[in-house]
Amino acid sequence: MASYPTYSPLDLARVLDGLHPDLRILGPEALAGRHPGEDRANLTAGVIAQPASTEAAAALIAWCRANHVAIVPQGGLSGLVGGGVSRAGEVILSSARLSRVVAIHPEEETVEVEAGVTLEALQAALAPHGLTTGIDLGSRGSATIGGMVSTNAGGILAFRNGVMRHQILGLEAVLPSGEVFSDMTRVVKVSAGPDIKQIFIGGEGTFGFVTRVVMKVEPIRPHRAVALVGVANAARALEVAARLRRHPALLLEAAEMMWPRYMRDHAALKSFDLSWRDGDTAVLLIEVSGSSAEAATALLEEELADLWEEADLKGGIVAQSFDQTRRFWDLREDSGFYFAAFPDAPSFDVSMPPSALDAYVTGLFDRLSVIRSGLDAYVYGHIADGNLHIAIAAPGHLHPDLKTQIETAVYAGITASGGSFSAEHGVGLDKRSAYLAHVDPVKQALARQIKAVLDPDMLFNPGKVPF
Ligand SMILES: Cc1cc2nc3c(=O)[nH]c(=O)nc-3n(C[C@H](O)[C@H](O)[C@H](O)COP(=O)(O)OP(=O)(O)OC[C@H]3O[C@@H](n4cnc5c(N)ncnc54)[C@H](O)[C@@H]3O)c2cc1C
Repeated sequence: MASYPTYSPLDLARVLDGLHPDLRILGPEALAGRHPGEDRANLTAGVIAQPASTEAAAALIAWCRANHVAIVPQGGLSGLVGGGVSRAGEVILSSARLSRVVAIHPEEETVEVEAGVTLEALQAALAPHGLTTGIDLGSRGSATIGGMVSTNAGGILAFRNGVMRHQILGLEAVLPSGEVFSDMTRVVKVSAGPDIKQIFIGGEGTFGFVTRVVMKVEPIRPHRAVALVGVANAARALEVAARLRRHPALLLEAAEMMWPRYMRDHAALKSFDLSWRDGDTAVLLIEVSGSSAEAATALLEEELADLWEEADLKGGIVAQSFDQTRRFWDLREDSGFYFAAFPDAPSFDVSMPPSALDAYVTGLFDRLSVIRSGLDAYVYGHIADGNLHIAIAAPGHLHPDLKTQIETAVYAGITASGGSFSAEHGVGLDKRSAYLAHVDPVKQALARQIKAVLDPDMLFNPGKVPF
């Protein structure tokens, strides 16, 4: 068996320096004090390789394979499951300098873009063409297209446009062998054998490094109206969403629900007036677009008035200014507020058929109270596609046994209902045990076989998903 040298971060930075003209290497000194993103262990490797071309990424990867050095792909570091966590001896392969919007095709509504472009930068580049992305996330300022491909990101518009997988037409990636996989098709219809690029979408950097993609885009609909509506439960919220989806002159742009504890604590923190709400109910945030902002606002008000009794609405408020719109959205998007009070709050991202939501949430609160009286949760999410985010309001450091009990309570019945233990954030390191427990064993075995073919030395993002 071949033996390989072990490199300290400093040595690794030195040997990689000068490997390719398009490759920038940042060593431990350059990384000192740098923000690690959503996981404090993201930058532990202490060495970042930043290619500015696919060729430079391929040269780095080929070197790593020859020298048996593991690689951790990273984008904007906004991932929430530890998928970008690195260790000493590994090299971080960052997409930061793959930052070009290569070509916009307005007439086709497609864009070719490098992996390191952030969602927000892509939206800004598309705007002068009257276009935008068909996918949107609260982390748009930092999440990159490559990271979103790799986690199969979902977000606000998934109920209408699907997730990242449904936006990607073409994809280029460097394989663990150093070869370049290129399938940069620009069309919706390709029926030419199995669609191998799908392996990289949701692959969490374990099958290769995504360098470029072709994405579908869509026309901007700038004329918006936004409302907050008190709702008794998810079924009522879904009635409102369904009615608006069928409206001939409005297009539903978002339907986000926040359960009472989330609403109460967040509104208190932000000094947001909830006196319009009839009781301590959940709140639905609705956004629609129309022919003008005035028309959209008037039609939304009309529809909500019409639905008032039918959907048993518990109060509502329609934004009258841009500032108010931002404040409404801030309640939903600044969602990590609870970590200030509960730094160790176990958090989850689950999905289920929307019709199963109410029974699930009621059951969840019951199961939590059986674990410990008063154990509560913040629940909110992308209601129209059945995606809930859940954070457990448990103070202090949690004993591993308590964490296991909580996990069991959260995941109960989800697979059987047709949902997933991970809706849009991925598996990474944090959800590995859930992957092993809830994913079909044959599917797991197949994934391991594919991994063994593509990455026999297990050098790409080791330890993530179950690899
Ligand atoms: C405030 C906030 C709101 C969020 N809202 C949403 C939401 O609504 N919907 C949603 O889906 N997610 C959401 N997220 C999670 C996060 O933004 C997404 O998971 C996003 O897709 C990660 O992109 P990134 O560029 O930051 O990737 P990173 O965090 O850098 O990496 C994520 C994973 O992708 C891999 N990876 C990154 N780039 C590449 C590449 N070029 N090639 C191969 N593998 C790569 C990494 O190895 C890692 O496994 C949110 C996060 C925050 C902090």
